[in-house]
Amino acid sequence: MIFAALVAFLPLTPAAAKNIRVGGVSYVDAAEFGSRYGLKATTAGRKLTLKSAWTTIELEAESRECRYNGLRVFLGDASRAYRGAVLISRTDADRLFNPLLLPGNDQKKVPDLRTIVIDPGHGGRDPGKENRRLKINEKTVALDTALRLQRMLENMGYRVLLTRTEDKHLGADKAADLLERAAIAKRAGADLLISLHYNAVSSAAQRVSGVEVYSLTPQHQYSTSDPEQDDAKGAAEFNAGNARDHWNILLGYHVHRRLVDELKISDRGLKRARWAVLRHAECPAILVEAGFLSNDAEARRIATPEYRQRIADAIAHGVEAYGAVVAGVRKQRGGK
Ligand SMILES: [Zn+2]
Repeated sequence: MIFAALVAFLPLTPAAAKNIRVGGVSYVDAAEFGSRYGLKATTAGRKLTLKSAWTTIELEAESRECRYNGLRVFLGDASRAYRGAVLISRTDADRLFNPLLLPGNDQKKVPDLRTIVIDPGHGGRDPGKENRRLKINEKTVALDTALRLQRMLENMGYRVLLTRTEDKHLGADKAADLLERAAIAKRAGADLLISLHYNAVSSAAQRVSGVEVYSLTPQHQYSTSDPEQDDAKGAAEFNAGNARDHWNILLGYHVHRRLVDELKISDRGLKRARWAVLRHAECPAILVEAGFLSNDAEARRIATPEYRQRIADAIAHGVEAYGAVVAGVRKQRGGK
């Protein structure tokens, strides 16, 4: 009994898997990494599956995508085939899989979760993305969704503030506007920041639809939209938001999970980007792209209050799931 109590208080810290350097990047053997977290590996050609009773991770060598319990998740570095093994980068092991598999592992501080700031994208002279055929713009539907999300989260007991509650921009130019959004969250003492957007692509790709959720790209990695890895300067930077890489991805995972499961729409993936609002955030933060206004069918749905309410509900449920995980970690450590 005493032994069991002791064990419960010891943080479970799997020993680090061995480093393998390939082309200037540190990798670990994915199967070896998985075994340290209680996952069993099976291979089929270039595919590697890591599996426990709760978790299934499907990797494919030379791909930047994986499936985490069926959810589409983008790696920071493509996994690699190497001497019969599949390698994942050390950064993906530490900053992507470790937080999802063992929340709180290797983290000194567990974040609070009382005050949430929602940031409806754009506003005022900046309409954001538009569907001119249907006369829908991003700034309007983002604000309405944010107000719905605010009500949901307040009903759950959180203190919730918005970066804007009317149709206005927040700075003299785009850069100042984005800085101000992170600054508002900081002044509010935010424990969480959710930036809310709707997407669009050029008219040639109107069929593209679905949700994507972004968390900040870890240092030394490349954003999902940068497959050629051109932005070496960006990758070298350590941003304020990178201090919370562990919690950013955990938050992103739970919100993306609920959006995909509840809306039953195309899973565009849990992605990485260095959006200004994420770079400057001083609390766990994500940016949600809740659908494509350029897709007429999806835009028509987004134009209805019912669908925007479903989006708000899914995000709120994701925050709730993240909150339960954080509370679990705190409890495990003997906190309240
Ligand atoms: Zn936007």
